[in-house]
Formats: sequence, structure tokens, C-alpha cells
Amino acid sequence: MNAGRIRENLERVRARIAAAAVRSGRSADSVRLVAVTKRVPVEWVRPLVEAGALDLGENYPQELWSKADALADLGASVHWHLIGHLQSNKVKKTLPLVRMIHAVDSLKLLRILDDDAGSLEAPPSVCLQVNTSAEPSKHGWDPDGIRADAEAIAGCRAIPIVGLMTMAALGTNAESARGSFIELREIRDDLRRRTGLALDELSMGMSGDFETAIEEGATLVRVGSALFEGAGDEP
Ligand SMILES: *Cc1c(COP(=O)(O)O)cnc(C)c1O
Repeated sequence: MNAGRIRENLERVRARIAAAAVRSGRSADSVRLVAVTKRVPVEWVRPLVEAGALDLGENYPQELWSKADALADLGASVHWHLIGHLQSNKVKKTLPLVRMIHAVDSLKLLRILDDDAGSLEAPPSVCLQVNTSAEPSKHGWDPDGIRADAEAIAGCRAIPIVGLMTMAALGTNAESARGSFIELREIRDDLRRRTGLALDELSMGMSGDFETAIEEGATLVRVGSALFEGAGDEP
């Protein structure tokens, strides 16, 4: 494992995030990095946390549970984000472990979370996933569907609904992904009016397109592979 390489990658990604924010007239700290650690051994995650990357994202609930357990010695400064699909039978075990659930993809799941949130002292925040690329393989509301559900969404009052999340289509590059990000922001603006919720968070942008996402208003970027390039090389 090459911890130096991981630290350099982190510094580079942070600098790119800051530059993209400033370029679009925002402050560097208006964008939070969620370091995506899926399929990466826990030993590779430690140098990131030691360098101050405290928001960690996992795709699969079981992998999040086991990583949170393996890294429990790092303490409460680490905040876990579930960024992938959450099956309803995994809600109870996942809720107390996470700071944010990014990919709430149906009204049914949102209502289950809302029911369970009432029993927690500090329930996680959630973002609602919108399928802006119209790919059948992707989870999430379609753009018309989420507008139609606005009233039902506003009726969920126990779980903090803080924003929206999307993934650009497979095969898009930094520029061709832009349309998805613009669409998510426009849906957010519309849902704000329809629900009265602030919906300040836009979770969008990955290794290949996070700078474009920031230019279009991302407040949370989910970056994995760019942090771990060369991590397995000899130091
Ligand atoms: C894997 C994943 C990411 C990170 O992707 P990279 O291209 O490795 O940066 C972000 N969001 C979701 C939902 C993911 O599954």
C-alpha cells in the first residue's frame, strides 16, 4: 500500500474541488468531499482519514457495516454516507450508523425511513435520487414522478430531507454529463417551491465529472477512483 500516493491524490482532488468552486463564484468550503471507499481495503482508507477526509461513502449496506466496524477505532469523527440502494430489510441496522443516505429512490423507502426516524435521537439526513439520465438500470424517481410526489414528500416530517442526488449516464464524460446536473438543479428549484423544503444539498459528481457538477451547483461530490490511483503500487 502506498499511503503517500493516497495522500497526494487527496490533496489533488481537494485542490480541484476548491478551484472549481471558486471558478463558479462559490467559496471552496461550499463543497464537501465524500470519499467513496467501496471495494477498497480498510488499510487504504486510514491514510485518507488521517489526512482529514472524514466523510466516507459506501455503496452496499453490508460493506458499510463491516467497514464502519473495522474502522471503529477512528472514533466518531468519521461520518458514513450510504450512496447506493438501501433495501427495506436493511434500514434498521443502517440508520444508526450513517450521517447521510444519498440515494433514497422511492416514496416507499422514504416513508419507511420516516417511520423509523422518529425513534432515533439524531436520524441521518437524506437526499432523494432522481434518474436524470433515463437509463432503466438506474434507481430513482424520474423527473416527472418526483414532481408528482411533492406533496407526499413534504408530508414526511421525521426524516430530514436535505436535497437531491443524481448520477450521470454511463459513458458520459465531464462535458456530456453537464445536462444531468443542470436538470437536477432545476428539479430541485421546482421541488423547493412545491414542498417548502430548503433542499440545499445537491449530491452529484464522481471522479470523471465532479468539476462540472460543482460548476452546476453540487454541494456534495462522491469521489472514489481518483483517490486510489496507484494506491497498490510499491511506495
Ligand atoms: C462508485 C460510486 C461513486 C464514485 O465513483 P468514482 O468514479 O470511483 O469516483 C460515486 N457515486 C456512486 C453512487 C457510486 O456508486
